[in-house]
Amino acid sequence: MPITFSGDAPEQVLTTPALLPEDGQEVSLRPRRLTEYTGQEKAKENLAIFIQAAKMRGEPLDHVLLHGPPGLGKTTLAGVIANEMGVSMRVTSGPAIEKPGDLVALLTNLQENDILFLDEIHRLNRSVEEILYPAMEDFAVDIILGKGPSANSIRLELPHFTLIGATTRSGQLSAPLRDRFGVTLRLELYTTDELRRIIERSASLLGVQIEPDGAVEIASRSRGTPRIANRMLRRVRDFAQVKGSGVITRAIADEALLRLEVDQAGLDSIDRRMLRSIIELYGGGPVGLEALAATINEEAVTLEDVYEPFLLQNGYLTRTMRGRCVTKKAYEHLGIDFIGQESLDI
Ligand code: ADP
Repeated sequence: MPITFSGDAPEQVLTTPALLPEDGQEVSLRPRRLTEYTGQEKAKENLAIFIQAAKMRGEPLDHVLLHGPPGLGKTTLAGVIANEMGVSMRVTSGPAIEKPGDLVALLTNLQENDILFLDEIHRLNRSVEEILYPAMEDFAVDIILGKGPSANSIRLELPHFTLIGATTRSGQLSAPLRDRFGVTLRLELYTTDELRRIIERSASLLGVQIEPDGAVEIASRSRGTPRIANRMLRRVRDFAQVKGSGVITRAIADEALLRLEVDQAGLDSIDRRMLRSIIELYGGGPVGLEALAATINEEAVTLEDVYEPFLLQNGYLTRTMRGRCVTKKAYEHLGIDFIGQESLDI
């Protein structure tokens, strides 16, 4: 089968942490137990204790809020928690729950100790969110029957459940909702070594042969994100099968990723366009997010949620009160002469 690496801006597709249809196979790569879940040591350590304590008391786990950029393993971790607790998990998301009644139906169908996983919890509408408050606190919902002066409120008891909320933007959560979570865990971008282990595990599950150097090459170019690492692995595997002997070597990984416009530092064309625009049009910054987004024709939320975390963490970009600035490292990476603004050299 011919493999094309051109066409519809493949580099954007390859490096977006958002879930794509091609990630369908992802489910089979999801770790099921805490010991298989690579990295996030701090979060795992805390969780292991909370899970053990809840099991010893025979109670459901406290409500958990997971936050961090997309593709870092929030859904996976929720599934791991359900497995470790030995309970079932129902999965839904903020935008999927349109009316309070939808949420009431979900809640009343849970079994004792079950987990409800609510992705993109920051996108719940207000009337639905208000149902969650008593549900989380008292395991009950108040339902109004009828209208006007004859309206009657009845209280419906719910099973004791655990809500696991996931969000990429914890800052957008209302204070009353945030306060109702007993445990808040922030997921961090993964190190190259952690991603290497994830890639080697996925390769073995997919039956792909990969050399250690090949795994490191993909790992170091996956923006600290397991979803991207797994996606790159699948693309490089195709390349290795067509152009090589089927084994993923460092050279094969490098060649495949360069063709997909992911450079050796793991930056894609949007990253480079973003940095280049700040340098060429805004003298290195500061520039406001909205202005930058308009300049490069991307959505501000996409830049903030998807591109910035990686560029900030790796020292290509800084965020100041007045906007975004590029660093000396960004000039060097793009091969542009740095004109020596001391304040940029962070
Ligand atoms: P999120 O919910 O944060 O967007 P997911 O939980 O869907 O991210 O994770 C994306 C994919 O990355 C998963 O299908 C899984 O294969 C992989 N993954 C995520 N975290 C880990 C991890 N800690 N160890 C191994 N694989 C992981």
